[in-house]
Amino acid sequence: MSDLIKDINLVGEQVDEKSVSCEVKVTENTANEGQRKLYIESYGCQMNFSDSEIVASVMQKNNFGTTSNVEEADLVFLNTCSIREKAEQTVRQRLRVFNRVKKSKPGMIIGVLGCMAERLKTQLLEEEKMVDIVAGPDSYRDLPKLVGDVDEGDKGVNVFLSRDETYADIAPVRLNSNGISAMISIMRGCDNMCSFCVVPFTRGRERSRDPHSIVKEAQELFDQGYKEVTLLGQNVDSYKWSDEENNKARLEKKELKEEDIEIVSFAQLLEMVAGVSPELRIRFSTSHPKDITDDVLYTMKKHENICNFIHLPVQSGNSRVLDIMNRTYDREWYINRIDKIREVFGNDCGISSDMIAGFCTETEEEHQDTLSLMEYVKFDYSYMFFYSERPGTLAEKKFEDDIPLDVKKRRLQEIVTLQRQHSAERNALNVGEVQKVLIDGYSKRSKEHFQGRNSHNKVVVFPKGNAKLGEYAIVKIHDCTGGTLLGEIID
Ligand code: SAM
Ligand code: SF4
Repeated sequence: MSDLIKDINLVGEQVDEKSVSCEVKVTENTANEGQRKLYIESYGCQMNFSDSEIVASVMQKNNFGTTSNVEEADLVFLNTCSIREKAEQTVRQRLRVFNRVKKSKPGMIIGVLGCMAERLKTQLLEEEKMVDIVAGPDSYRDLPKLVGDVDEGDKGVNVFLSRDETYADIAPVRLNSNGISAMISIMRGCDNMCSFCVVPFTRGRERSRDPHSIVKEAQELFDQGYKEVTLLGQNVDSYKWSDEENNKARLEKKELKEEDIEIVSFAQLLEMVAGVSPELRIRFSTSHPKDITDDVLYTMKKHENICNFIHLPVQSGNSRVLDIMNRTYDREWYINRIDKIREVFGNDCGISSDMIAGFCTETEEEHQDTLSLMEYVKFDYSYMFFYSERPGTLAEKKFEDDIPLDVKKRRLQEIVTLQRQHSAERNALNVGEVQKVLIDGYSKRSKEHFQGRNSHNKVVVFPKGNAKLGEYAIVKIHDCTGGTLLGEIID
């Protein structure tokens, strides 16, 4: 499986798994006697994993239980990612494997869900003959009907993108859960048009989910024993909800006409979720540099249970490149946001980033600007990619993908090398500190050691002592490696 993870990301030969954001997850065995068996394999970002939990919930109500073994599945869903070409190639490879399984099990139904389904639509049915269902990210309520269509001998297709679907009322079935941390989707779609990005085309317009349903989900998780929730959206700072309207573009039009319209912002949502319990940790991802407000920073500062960690993708350190990426901020703006975070938290806030090497027309000097911005910020870690042209995006239409692959890879490698140095430097700063760690599993190397995360989202490993999984431990850090802090419980 780890080979597969490396394979889908292809971000340079020496890049480790920690520096990639694309993962793969499969369902576990939960099916009871008499249920049809559903196998879901999910690729891509956390939003996709969260969507698979909605899919599992919808199908569970229709008497499907999950399995971890594709060979015994009646229904196979591949929840796909289109963000880079390599992610799509991996999905094609997996479809070939499923096709072989289907040959010995002809009744098996295969469905492609998510971004690749949305991007390719019925073309996917023509190209991949054994695919029975193609369902985009807004059509998961329709999956039982689509399966019914296939049972009747048809193909099932729904790639309709909704303007208001948020699945607010669906209680997700937690997949791959440790019973300690869970994801809560707070919005869908994206209204930004970053020129390199396929997401606005595959996930549709931005909508925010009813905050009361979000708080209810957080409360239920806490009541079940969960200790950490991550609020998910492509651009969480742009969360904007009112009772009358959850579609952001329509809400903003309404706001212009009606001055007294009551709106819940992301800072207010954070405040509401933080109120569930001081024992429930809150994280969120992804923040957009153009939208993150001082209010969000002050709300984080005010609540000890909101983790001091911000994923703030910069993409490039050069203002001209940021402009043609259509990120709508420049280098100075980004630095100003970093300065504000450091002003509010000092060094007590983890900051991570996404970086793209070799975007169209990027010169050597402009690449150096990315390295110098990294030197300024010293990110705790980053997800680093070389540019992969995506069909239909603004960049594909407007610019030539003119940086040779070997140059893209070399620039990426320089970014990765610098990031490793900075991660080590940032970790070294924590040595000697006492930190609160949420224990979420055993260390990979030894059952005698636990691992958990500190507020800055760093992995901390320490001897178990009398502590238990799911508890908070107070740990003194005495050493570190590039990716991990090592310590001992002191309380
Ligand atoms: N919404 C988030 C944001 O704006 O930062 C990011 C979402 S995207 C799923 C995750 C990351 O993939 C992006 O931040 C970007 O670095 C990378 N990415 C997106 N499109 C890409 C492309 N065409 N080539 C390479 N990397 C890409
Ligand atoms: Fe893509 Fe930009 Fe939206 Fe992020 S903010 S999902 S990079 S369009």
